[in-house]
Amino acid sequence: VIDLRGVTKSFSGQVVLHDIDLRLEEGTVTVVLGPSGSGKSTLLRTINHLEKVDRGQVRIKDTLIGYRQSGDRLHELSEREVLRQRSRIGFVFQQFNLFPHLTVLENVVEAPVSAQRRRRTEVEAEARQLLARVGLADKAAAYPRQLSGGQQQRVAIARALALQPDVILFDEPTSALDPELVGEVLDVIKELARDGATLVVVTHEIGFAREVADTVVFLDGGRLIEQGPPAQVLDNPRHERTRAFLERVL
Ligand code: ATP
Ligand code: MG
Repeated sequence: VIDLRGVTKSFSGQVVLHDIDLRLEEGTVTVVLGPSGSGKSTLLRTINHLEKVDRGQVRIKDTLIGYRQSGDRLHELSEREVLRQRSRIGFVFQQFNLFPHLTVLENVVEAPVSAQRRRRTEVEAEARQLLARVGLADKAAAYPRQLSGGQQQRVAIARALALQPDVILFDEPTSALDPELVGEVLDVIKELARDGATLVVVTHEIGFAREVADTVVFLDGGRLIEQGPPAQVLDNPRHERTRAFLERVL
């Protein structure tokens, strides 16, 4: 469903992603591992065109992201067209990024109504179901500051689901949480995986990767060093750099 070809990205002359080829099948979970600064967040951000690539292409369900192709030339899409594409891609951040002045329910309802022009009454009914699904049916009227970090992150997941996305990207969704709250968020993500969602998860939770990932991708210095099923990449890595990284985090 997601296809990255030759994705290359530099910041002020420093290459941060080197010629990344990556194909993610529909209904699979891909876990992205790598040291700090290896390009994990940048990789996620290129998928929804928060970062423009210097070279290469990103396609989701055969739709080119950020550009329109005519003949062999690419034309950049307008900001509005990019926003519309982006509204089919869920993004869950380390810092939750909920709107503090909106209730939990309003946080979930906002994007489908404003970016997808869907009817508020219909979206609200759906949002209540999604909140129930992440175990927060009783928090619809609360404000983010009244919730624990784990609860806020589960709201953020419900908000991403409300877009009926083709894929959900998670950037270290549990790194900002107290250890005792990590499990409740990982459990929600595991359940999405069981239900057949297409997920890309940047995380340092190796146990989660082993249990849930179909594919583990290891990045180092902006290069895709190794990818494969967890049993291969985690338990029997081919590359010394993967091995050294795993020794440090396990
Ligand atoms: P972490 O585990 O710390 O989150 P990461 O693997 O997500 O790291 P990225 O955030 O993708 O790494 O950053 C990769 C490199 O690109 C780093 O060297 C970073 O400093 C640089 N970088 C990222 N975003 C920008 C930006 N907007 N401007 C300049 N440099 C950037
Ligand atoms: Mg990052």
